[in-house]
Amino acid sequence: MNNADLQHLHCCVELATEALEAGNEPFGSVLVGADGTVLAEDYNRVAAGDQTQHPELALARWAATNLTPEERAGANVFTSGEHCPMCAAAHGWVGLSRIRYVSPAEQLVTWLAAVGGVGLACASAADSSGGGRSRSRGSVS
Ligand SMILES: [Zn+2]
Repeated sequence: MNNADLQHLHCCVELATEALEAGNEPFGSVLVGADGTVLAEDYNRVAAGDQTQHPELALARWAATNLTPEERAGANVFTSGEHCPMCAAAHGWVGLSRIRYVSPAEQLVTWLAAVGGVGLACASAADSSGGGRSRSRGSVS
């Protein structure tokens, strides 16, 4: 892990904060090309009721639409939390490279237990104040 990796992970935490402030679950992710260029970023958008609106899945879909298979094979995902099974599968299907995350899934379980065992999905399902913003920093091709 180098300083650029740490910067990307810091950005993920900032995106997670943005997600939380918008009423979503606190997760954010950044897709970085083989040359170190930030290609796209997103945050969790489940507040509107769609529990599949994870940033890791959004970035996998973005990569499938905007990158060649060769570019995807060199692109890394940085994210605030370890991928869930849905996002891990999408990452694999799309053919992205490494995943770097701030906190492992075990840590999330520990944090949820500390706040009373309420699942994030359950807590956010009652909140319908989701945002609609999607960001990218340009396409590669
Ligand atoms: Zn996920």
